[in-house]
Amino acid sequence: MLADVVLPLAVPGAYTYHLPKSMEGQVSVGSRVVVPLGKSKRYTGIVIRLLEEAKDIDYKDIEELVDDRPLLLQSQIDLWRWIANYYMCYPGEVMKAALPSGLKLESETCYTLSEDFVFDDETAENYSETECLILKSLSVEAKKLNDIRKEIQKIGVIAAIRRLTESGAVEVAEKVSQSFKAKTELHVRLGEQYQSEESLSTILDMLAASKRTQNQENLLLAYLELSSYSTVLTLKNENLLKLVSKKQLIDRVGPGGESALSSLKKKGILETYNVEVGRLKSHKALPGLLERPLSKEQDQARREILDGFEKNDVVLLHGVTSSGKTEVYIKLIEKTLQEGKQVLYLLPEIALTTQITTRLGKVFGDKLGIYHSKFPDNERVELWHRQLGDKAFPIILGVRSALFLPFKNLGLIIVDEEHETSYKQQDPAPRYHARDVAIVMAKQAGAKVLLGTATPSLESYANATCGKFGLVQLFTRYGEVQLPEIIVEDVKELKRKKLMSTPFSPRLTEEIHTVLNRGEQAILFQNRRGYSPQIECTKCGWVPYCSRCDVALTFHQRLNRLVCHYCGATYEIPKSCPQCENTELRDIGWGTEKVESAVESCFSEAKVARMDLDTTRSRAAYEGIISDFQRGKTNLLVGTQMITKGLDFDRVSVVGILNADQMLNMCDYRAHERAFQMMAQVAGRAGRRGKQGKVILQTRQPDSPIVKQVVTNDYESMFLCEMADRRMFRYPPIVRMITIYLKHKNEDIVSKASFALANMLRPHFNSDILGPDRPAVGRIQLMHIRKLMLKIDPQFSAQSIRKTLLSARESLLKTQGFKSLVVFFDVDPL
Ligand code: ADP
Ligand code: ZN
Ligand code: ZN
Repeated sequence: MLADVVLPLAVPGAYTYHLPKSMEGQVSVGSRVVVPLGKSKRYTGIVIRLLEEAKDIDYKDIEELVDDRPLLLQSQIDLWRWIANYYMCYPGEVMKAALPSGLKLESETCYTLSEDFVFDDETAENYSETECLILKSLSVEAKKLNDIRKEIQKIGVIAAIRRLTESGAVEVAEKVSQSFKAKTELHVRLGEQYQSEESLSTILDMLAASKRTQNQENLLLAYLELSSYSTVLTLKNENLLKLVSKKQLIDRVGPGGESALSSLKKKGILETYNVEVGRLKSHKALPGLLERPLSKEQDQARREILDGFEKNDVVLLHGVTSSGKTEVYIKLIEKTLQEGKQVLYLLPEIALTTQITTRLGKVFGDKLGIYHSKFPDNERVELWHRQLGDKAFPIILGVRSALFLPFKNLGLIIVDEEHETSYKQQDPAPRYHARDVAIVMAKQAGAKVLLGTATPSLESYANATCGKFGLVQLFTRYGEVQLPEIIVEDVKELKRKKLMSTPFSPRLTEEIHTVLNRGEQAILFQNRRGYSPQIECTKCGWVPYCSRCDVALTFHQRLNRLVCHYCGATYEIPKSCPQCENTELRDIGWGTEKVESAVESCFSEAKVARMDLDTTRSRAAYEGIISDFQRGKTNLLVGTQMITKGLDFDRVSVVGILNADQMLNMCDYRAHERAFQMMAQVAGRAGRRGKQGKVILQTRQPDSPIVKQVVTNDYESMFLCEMADRRMFRYPPIVRMITIYLKHKNEDIVSKASFALANMLRPHFNSDILGPDRPAVGRIQLMHIRKLMLKIDPQFSAQSIRKTLLSARESLLKTQGFKSLVVFFDVDPL
């Protein structure tokens, strides 16, 4: 037999290996195997196809089978294939994105002993010889998989590492898991010679004979009781044996237990061993919550969604902010579970907070599993295994990568906040869109998809209006709360009248004072982090740029440094202008840091918090800011678009949008759509419970159509206007797009190559191939960039277009001088 194996490498296709006779029957599609590549490299890969022996070709052997059962279901392999094909990337790149590090076992992966795992003679007894060799080696220092293999030249090393990571003794050395405690618990069992009725009664008699061994007798009896040993003996069924943890046993017998246990261990009557305990938090359901009745409108929406599923596989729920979409989801989840099927509930990364997990946890309790990229890798591995077994969680709440988990019986996928751009993976490949992959995945599984949002993407709304998706609308907020009143402040006019001495208009200033003094809260939205987006020389206008990227540096006051927002490099603030030696530099524009310090000086009653990428590097920090605000420890939140993501606060009565122009003036054909979405979402945080909130929208363009549409919350008009533009200029969703990026250290090469590629493609696509262009940021991390854009009319065969593009890239990369060029595709770019 031969096997096609996908390796975690950016190479086309799969590699074929020979399957040794000894492994036949054990290896199947989805199995993880170790294979040699090149002279000395070893990789773990996934078998994606088994095929008959070929006659003339000699293939290398598969060396090892890693797990006892396949790691992937056929449906997952099908999805990998679809992604690689559609998004024009390599299957190995999909594999890299799909598997948690702990399942990849790459030769470069570094392993270490878990923090609270101690390797000594006693623990050694619980491990095989190979496992002990690995543990011994790792107790000296963390090592790469390849080095462990070199050191311990034995078959089965990989499988042993896998067992050790699964039991929590060893972990992948990466930042997130360093803070993570291995979750194994010491358990107790009978020594091997004492597992019969006869030997047990002898030993019990012996212990009973002396007063000195009374504690030991008690402990042994307690063990027998806790483990239900007598039932095991009577029914002669080992499966009835209950696990007994050391803690449980010691707690049962009280003082003296520890020393009694160690005496019994010395005699070999009892022994201790490590058991992995579920790291996956289980939630407690609160009875009664399921009975929370839907409002009339919500129930109507629920029925329409179910009707919609009769006709369409995908339904879009367009429900205004705070209409209670989550409650509708909950009812649909319940129904799917009753049908015995699984639910995948997707949220954008940043929106997956304790708010939503507790809310769902209360309703669904231990039926809910969570998959988050900021969770320790071990937990993700554990969830993966659990989903393959028969105790799989029926509901998974997760971020985009949760799509890659195994689902044996999928019934429904909910894509909440479907318009969120963070559903699209930008870098590295696969540059996939989780919403679109979810739709394909559901189709393969015969499941339904519900897209939910207050501000649909044009793509989804267009699909809904043309009948490809079902459309359900929910236009009332729950509990008769009104949508906020939106007041537009003309900043240009206010400036002329010299009324803008702070970033807050007089009206906004007054509103903030009023609500804070009433004990309510306010949110200020400024979609730029840092102190000021630029500094400049007051004399000659010189502006500092990143030396590796073509972008102006942002001034961060807290760090007292200049930061490149593209590559993260930081620079010292120059003492004087290198161009004219003037020592006066000034900062221009507003970032969240500067807004925060303006709040501090303008509102003495404010307890301000800032939420942006810089203050939320860790999950804990992020949740801390939210919970402080929720509990009223802070009362004014300054933030970037991060504050709009599905948060539900009770006491926010004023929202200030400080600078709408910055969003409106972006030069991108999606700028208006985005501006509407962002402003409508941030406005939606106002007045969620109890009473109507106010939004103060500051702009220099009060008459812009988008501003008007935000004020009247008129999605439909925005949609029609935008679609007219997109039709006129042929942009998505009217056409589909593929962007082709070229990168090279040398600008001359990348420029020449981009023209060469354009010339190859032009005969096929004529004027539908645009460029080459230098993107707005034309150099990132020393790599010069050029891009070509291809517009594709929907009636064209995507498959033949892909072929043309791939073969053009191939011949380009074969051209003398272009070999070290990086060329990749971004399909449906955002
Ligand atoms: P959306 O997701 O549409 O913005 P949510 O689902 O967060 O809205 O609901 C807004 C608020 O109204 C939440 O605090 C929620 O608990 C409450 N709510 C919505 N529907 C109901 C209901 N049927 N019963 C009780 N509370 C509800
Ligand atoms: Zn100067
Ligand atoms: Zn940079």
